[in-house]
Amino acid sequence: MGAALGTLALTPVLTACGGGDETGTLSAGLSTATAVAVTATAASLSPEEIAALKFMREEEKLAHDVYAALYSLWGTNVLYQISLSETTHTEAILALLTKYGIDDPAATTAPGEFADPALQTLYNTLISMGRLSLIDALGVGALIEETDIHDIHEKMAITDEADIVNVYTSLLCGSGNHLRAFNEKLLEQGVTYVPQVISQKEWDAIASAPMETCGGTSH
Ligand code: MN
Ligand code: MN
Repeated sequence: MGAALGTLALTPVLTACGGGDETGTLSAGLSTATAVAVTATAASLSPEEIAALKFMREEEKLAHDVYAALYSLWGTNVLYQISLSETTHTEAILALLTKYGIDDPAATTAPGEFADPALQTLYNTLISMGRLSLIDALGVGALIEETDIHDIHEKMAITDEADIVNVYTSLLCGSGNHLRAFNEKLLEQGVTYVPQVISQKEWDAIASAPMETCGGTSH
């Protein structure tokens, strides 16, 4: 059986079992070497899964770059601390890109530079907003986190690769903590943030939940 046929035949098996017992399923019909080759290449991901990983690599970089730039303007510790967490997030996605042999869109871009034109426009807009005042900078933080939460939910819905779901789950956990941190700082400034991307109900549920310990790649 050729490699391409093997990939086609295995994909439904892999996507159906959703993690945990792929090795057992694969070893029934294939050598370990073939199984590794099938599971750890971009060929086992859909074009949508690949596009989602490349997008999230840059969206997490955007969060880092915005917080780093706004920290240099406002010197507020929450921006610095969360920028560090975003570095772990974008690196967690990079590890998946590397594992699956997908080109890294952020391989050579400088801080504040993005291959995705929509993310470049968003970055420029967020910096313009966040430089107006500390309250605006904190509002940019809240907007980034609710956008991130919305986008990660969307990307999670189109994959059932266990390793990708695990990373997205960890990033989502971190984003919830960041949302709560920015919300708390805004409340200290007397500001009640109105969500722009997720529903008020979802915002309230996240904002009122306790801080969480997130697995591995986030804070
Ligand atoms: Mn993040
Ligand atoms: Mn975040």
